[in-house]
Amino acid sequence: MTSDHQQDVIVIGGGIVGISCALFLQRDGRRVTVIDPAVPGSSDQTSFGNAGSISSSSVLPTALPGIYKKIPGMLADPTGPLAIQWRYLLRLTPFLLSLLRYSSRAHVEESGRAIAAIIHRVYDAYQILLEETGTRDLVVRNGSLKVFKTDQSFAATAFERELLEQNDCRYEVLNEDELRQLEPALQPIFKHAIFMPDSSTALNPGKLVSRFAEHFVAKGGAIVRAEARDIRFADGVPRTVVASNGDYDAETIVLAAGAWSRDMARRLGAPVLLEAERGYHIMLPKPPVMPQRFITFPDRKFAILPHQDGLRVTTGIEYAKVDAPPDYRRIRRMMPFADESIRDLDTTEQSIWLGRRPTLPNSVPVIGHSPKHRNVLLAFGHSHLGLTMGPATGQIIADLVAGRDPGLDLTPYKPNR
Ligand SMILES: Cc1cc2nc3c(=O)[nH]c(=O)nc-3n(C[C@H](O)[C@H](O)[C@H](O)COP(=O)(O)OP(=O)(O)OC[C@H]3O[C@@H](n4cnc5c(N)ncnc54)[C@H](O)[C@@H]3O)c2cc1C
Repeated sequence: MTSDHQQDVIVIGGGIVGISCALFLQRDGRRVTVIDPAVPGSSDQTSFGNAGSISSSSVLPTALPGIYKKIPGMLADPTGPLAIQWRYLLRLTPFLLSLLRYSSRAHVEESGRAIAAIIHRVYDAYQILLEETGTRDLVVRNGSLKVFKTDQSFAATAFERELLEQNDCRYEVLNEDELRQLEPALQPIFKHAIFMPDSSTALNPGKLVSRFAEHFVAKGGAIVRAEARDIRFADGVPRTVVASNGDYDAETIVLAAGAWSRDMARRLGAPVLLEAERGYHIMLPKPPVMPQRFITFPDRKFAILPHQDGLRVTTGIEYAKVDAPPDYRRIRRMMPFADESIRDLDTTEQSIWLGRRPTLPNSVPVIGHSPKHRNVLLAFGHSHLGLTMGPATGQIIADLVAGRDPGLDLTPYKPNR
């Protein structure tokens, strides 16, 4: 069977992870084609609508010690951080059971170490891409904040702070006055804050991905608007991506299709318990005093991004079929909390969006070779940290394709962990 196109590398998926892989592979002089039915940076991708945090400190996985006791309360609260579409429960059960198994203290520490090891590479990887793609204007490095209304909610972060220290992630504890000076856009209702000075904020994540993609094309890369539907093998080796508009042969295939990677991963020798942790955002008009950075509000489980086009409010986790219709009720219920937290906020909804965080039960991404096929690289499952980890992942994937040592033990990121 002859194919329509011959490339060194085909990357399936052009979100922040796929485009970052493509850029780093291209830097090594490879001919790269990205296949994706969506336009990179468009609202069909999770990479478009996230909260913009390029985090230096988010080492906590979703499942924490004692979560099983909290789940009923979270589900019962219509403004809580967790929702499940009940007709999806049967399908979700293996994932949930695995997630609960990973919630032991020892597992959480192990996942935290794996997440931190990637996070520590993020700054350098971003420097390279921001510099070369001319996108420095879209990222500010002025830290991120977590703010707490009560002594109790701050005290509940003791374990998180312990993990930050264990993993050499810098943070500072601020009191009310210090917080007010740093972030005057907040209402004076927060008693404590944790400041992460090494985090950055992407002021327009969708534009960042689209400008990365433009640079990739300007340097000779190809982006094909098509869906990868199957893989054809030659002598047992995956060689051809069968797409909706033709066949694409390649020496190497990189799977970076975010929350849609599960079926293709299985086909490529890596069965995984990948689910979509769906999350929403609402865009509001810019308040008179704009917050300066990404801020999370753990008391109410929402976060804000001072986006170039307005104030973005994002929410927690909804488990449902990846492409099930959106349920906007929960995020809309968060608006009074945003209103009480930010000075002079106008909560008139400008737009609303649903995204899918590609997530494995221990929140650690899959990065590395397929256990079955040496010429297949896997790069998905970045959960709440895909914007953060995308460039570092791209760098690791390019190292592996080139046969270079990525300087990191990749055991924790194997699909069959
Ligand atoms: C509300 C919310 C807030 C978030 N906030 C943050 C944050 O502050 N910081 C952070 O680091 N992360 C954040 N995230 C997580 C982050 O957005 C994701 O981890 C990241 O976008 C995943 O990137 P990706 O490239 O893997 O997936 P995507 O951006 O979803 O891209 C996957 C691409 O694969 C394509 N695809 C699917 N199937 C196929 C196929 N068969 N053939 C070809 N292409 C295919 C899709 O069309 C899509 O374009 C947030 C997520 C949400 C939902």
